Amino acid sequence: MIESEAESERTKLKREISELRAALNRKEQCLRDLETLISAARAEDHPEENAIGAPGRAVHTKLTNDDIARYSRQLILPEFGVKGQLKLKNSSVLIVGLGGLGCPAAQYLAAAGCGRLGLIDYDEVERSNFHRQILHSEDRYGLSKAESARIALLELNPHCEIRCHSRLLYSQNAMHIIRNYDVVLDCSDNVPTRYLLNDACVMLRKPLVSGSALKMDGQLTVYSYGNGPCYRCIYPVPPPPEAVTNCGDGGVLGAITGTIGAMQALEAIKVIVGLGDVLAGRLLIFDGITTVFRNIRIRNKRPNCHVCSTQPLISELIDYEMFCGMHATDKDHPLQLLTSDERLTVEDYRDELQAKPHLLIDVRPPAEFEICKLPEAVNVPLAEILDDSYLERFAKQLEDKDLSIVLLCRRGNDSQIAVQHVRNRFPMHSVRDLIGGLHAWTNNVDSNFPIY
Ligand SMILES: [Zn+2]
Repeated sequence: MIESEAESERTKLKREISELRAALNRKEQCLRDLETLISAARAEDHPEENAIGAPGRAVHTKLTNDDIARYSRQLILPEFGVKGQLKLKNSSVLIVGLGGLGCPAAQYLAAAGCGRLGLIDYDEVERSNFHRQILHSEDRYGLSKAESARIALLELNPHCEIRCHSRLLYSQNAMHIIRNYDVVLDCSDNVPTRYLLNDACVMLRKPLVSGSALKMDGQLTVYSYGNGPCYRCIYPVPPPPEAVTNCGDGGVLGAITGTIGAMQALEAIKVIVGLGDVLAGRLLIFDGITTVFRNIRIRNKRPNCHVCSTQPLISELIDYEMFCGMHATDKDHPLQLLTSDERLTVEDYRDELQAKPHLLIDVRPPAEFEICKLPEAVNVPLAEILDDSYLERFAKQLEDKDLSIVLLCRRGNDSQIAVQHVRNRFPMHSVRDLIGGLHAWTNNVDSNFPIY
């Protein structure tokens, strides 16, 4: 009886919470509608202005002499001209991720005279960034990426107002930040952030210029613009985590991210100025190996899309890491597949095993093994471990039941998967992996060992 009363009280509270959320969403919608009306009214009163422009901001109606000198090469373009320049000067763009895509995008937008840029990145400048993240430099190593980019952009164009958001974008802060910008650039490299940005941009009616680059390929499209689809219309459910590779694991050439990032700036300028044919409802695919650009039509808006349809199921931001089953950062997220007796610290390996007979198998891809390796390691990539093609190669050694097998990789994740497989094949052997992989080796044993 008491339990049933408590249950009914919980149900009542849940209903109240859901009604309050619905009321809040309606108010948010009213606010968006009012902001749109104010922008539209201002555009009517001042035809020289674009409807794009943050409400309440001072509006530039003239170009200065410096503007004319600085932007002269684009001012003389008939399709751009003074009107285009003024629209750009009154506009604001949020760049999410100041990495390989965000750096060139921010550089071209600041240089072209975008009035206000918001830069959001939780990360700090590292040496592995420099080959493609061209706003950062050696003297700003360790600085927040947003702040490093701000310094570089102001050197390029001191008239551009720059706001730094040195933090992770997540459900609780996304609406508050995005609301203050006209256009959003998705220069991130993870799936949860793509869904988060998509949903927030649909809810706030902001065009989302989405770029991606991996290995030798790039892609570009514009979501939430005109009658074009949103990201969820194309990908209603996230991919399985094991199917996703980021640049930290898969690699990328800097000129690929540079190409796509520069084109993200171009699409943002077209949206702001109202120029040409914006890449909405189409996907640009760039194959850097063959230098071929393809433009394919993507599906129309999905009538039952959970976020952009007329009856959306999702009307407030959710927990995107949970939804995708992935993290929104590319920081090391150690797997925990093995028990502690199936693992070995790098110090224990050095002290107890390194000098004795054993088989040290490095399971990284050959290209990574070529970068750096422990002297006693043999390379058997994880794929070969999983399909057992290594068995013949080590048949003789593996006959010795006393031979310890140690598996090693870059960070200590793949090596755990390898241990699970090898252990099943050789239950009589001691099969362990090195906790933290080569990163731990550099950090705890040999600081001269290269890290990548
Ligand atoms: Zn949609």
